[in-house]
Amino acid sequence: WKHAPGHFRALLEMSRFHGEKEFLVYEDEHITFEEHFRRAATLANRLVTEYGVVKGDRVVVAMRNYPEWVVAFSAALAAGAIAVPLNAWWTEPELAYGVLDCDAKVLIADSERAVRLAATGVPMIVARGEAPEGARSFEDVLGEVGADVTLPDVELSPEDPATIFYTSGTTGHPKGALGSHRNLGQSPMTVAYGLMRAVALAGKDAAAAAGARRVTLLTVPLFHVTGCFSALTTTMFAGGGLVLMYKWDPEQALRLIERERVTTMIGVPTNAWQLMSHPDFGKYDLSSLTTLGYGGAPAPPKLLERIGENLPDRAASNGYGMTETTGLAVGNGGPDYQARPDSIGLPTAVVDVRVVAPTGEELPRGEVGELCVRGPNVIMRYWNKPEPTAQTFVDGWLHTGDLAKIDEDGFVYIVDRAKDMVIRAGENVYCAEVEAAMFEHPAIDDAAVIGIPHDELGEEVGAVVRLKPGTSTTAEELQSFLVERIAKFKIPAHVWFREAELPRNPGGKILKTHLRREVLGG
Ligand code: ATP
Ligand code: MG
Repeated sequence: WKHAPGHFRALLEMSRFHGEKEFLVYEDEHITFEEHFRRAATLANRLVTEYGVVKGDRVVVAMRNYPEWVVAFSAALAAGAIAVPLNAWWTEPELAYGVLDCDAKVLIADSERAVRLAATGVPMIVARGEAPEGARSFEDVLGEVGADVTLPDVELSPEDPATIFYTSGTTGHPKGALGSHRNLGQSPMTVAYGLMRAVALAGKDAAAAAGARRVTLLTVPLFHVTGCFSALTTTMFAGGGLVLMYKWDPEQALRLIERERVTTMIGVPTNAWQLMSHPDFGKYDLSSLTTLGYGGAPAPPKLLERIGENLPDRAASNGYGMTETTGLAVGNGGPDYQARPDSIGLPTAVVDVRVVAPTGEELPRGEVGELCVRGPNVIMRYWNKPEPTAQTFVDGWLHTGDLAKIDEDGFVYIVDRAKDMVIRAGENVYCAEVEAAMFEHPAIDDAAVIGIPHDELGEEVGAVVRLKPGTSTTAEELQSFLVERIAKFKIPAHVWFREAELPRNPGGKILKTHLRREVLGG
């Protein structure tokens, strides 16, 4: 054992012991741990010998959820480089920004991304399709993959930087979050512990679940922390299977759960919601599914109720996390979650949380303030951004930008994002609270609350909603439904009905700026 645990190279070497077990599933392709190890180790060696990658160089991974994403990510880290997964949804200028921002040495892309990256002029390795001129194909670079391949010799410590993941950019431009090997190394334990705790709390046979092979359906991209740190590293550690999807599609998800005997679905709350709303939901055999884990965006309390009706007896859990916390930081599962469906739960085993006033002072239990997180999962800093770094990481505490309160038992409640609040005549209206109330209405499929500029009030509350197929309602009817649930000043004065799905980013967050522009013009 050459590497300290809490180190990606240790995780990769350990994963090889899972040998001929199936690791990655993509459409009809099934890849074992041994095959994956050999490919990753071979590519790591090529990065060093043919591309001159040295410790600390940045290697971009720009792909959809292909098995090659995992190979490229593993190879970059094993070579001692910093792996920089870029958002595959990004346009040409956005991708160019990412490449320039991290000053990449090599790009590993799929052919769709390759077209958008070609102009950067950075050496490129291209998987899944034609390589543009000057670039080499993935298989060509790999060449012969030997059985006796070993990882290149690089000295790395757990404090060395490992990854740059970009934040979603919900509140402005995406920021590169620089995470260490230690940040990454704690993720399988944190996530596995959270999922197992939910199973145990739900009164299920935790011993049986612990012994069983976990097959995870990943419904979100690998280039965000939920995909990478709540699904991938955990699967590598435990020797489970990871079923990848090119993109989210509820019908395909249903098919894959049945076909691959999926035990665990990991994604954002919308995925679970849309899975259960699919007209063919009842036609599939979902008996293998024991666990639903979601997070990354607010989960309406109604979601848990719907899971209880449609997928009874499953362990559901809601995880709160950020790019800056390497994914999961606070989680709620089992009867805890049943009792407090509006809470994100308790801090994970590795973190401390507290709620502070704008002055930085810690607030007493029950009061709303900014949530702060401290622990070995909190990233090192933002890449190349000293000012936001200084503002966000203060005395060892990460300031999340989320408004929260903590109850007497230590359960955390996200009230809203500090920037996703409507201030109506000086009164704070938390969008998340209004949205949760709207989800109670039987006709609502999706809802987003936004602030509408108003001369007298400063801002007025507005909502954009999408109805379930075959249902109908009016703004008036919705408003009177809400009267019984929330204070009058919080009730949306304007309601827009939208036929198409609400626009979301790959992290499941509604693009509110986009919606605001759409309904208000300009
Ligand atoms: P940016 O920081 O660039 O504006 P972002 O904050 O959306 O983008 P992420 O790191 O992907 O980027 O998202 C983290 C945020 O997602 C949290 O700060 C929180 O607002 C929200 N979030 C995550 N999980 C949950 C959850 N379970 N419930 C409510 N909100 C959540
Ligand atoms: Mg953020």
